[in-house]
Amino acid sequence: MTSDATIRTDVPPSGTGCAECLGAGGWWFHLRRCADCGHIGCCDSSPSQHATAHWKQTGHPVVQSFEPGEDWFWNYETEQGLSGPELAPPGSRPDDQPAPGRPDRYPRTGLAGSTAESAFPQVSAATSDGVCVGC
Ligand SMILES: [Zn+2]
Ligand SMILES: [Zn+2]
Repeated sequence: MTSDATIRTDVPPSGTGCAECLGAGGWWFHLRRCADCGHIGCCDSSPSQHATAHWKQTGHPVVQSFEPGEDWFWNYETEQGLSGPELAPPGSRPDDQPAPGRPDRYPRTGLAGSTAESAFPQVSAATSDGVCVGC
């Protein structure tokens, strides 16, 4: 089921953060970019999983990582990684943007001096290999 997957290289990303989280005041862990319309959504390790939600809403199955240094693609429909062309720049969120994004929106306070990994051990476990599980 990859025949209807569209990858458009001339569509810039919707922004530097998850479109829905920015609007709703949420936060994300990692960002995924829709290869079809450029929508930026948050990954399945994030609380709201907007990248998956975008796929279910629009039928756009292919995303590319929007993290610096990552250029892999993922097809939600086939649950398989794939290789693809270079998309319209920028190819990732700004390097100096923290991950998880929106530290002012973390569900806990007092994170100063602690890492996101210690605050979210379940996230750390899911991403110990550096790639989110299922996204
Ligand atoms: Zn989101
Ligand atoms: Zn899309």
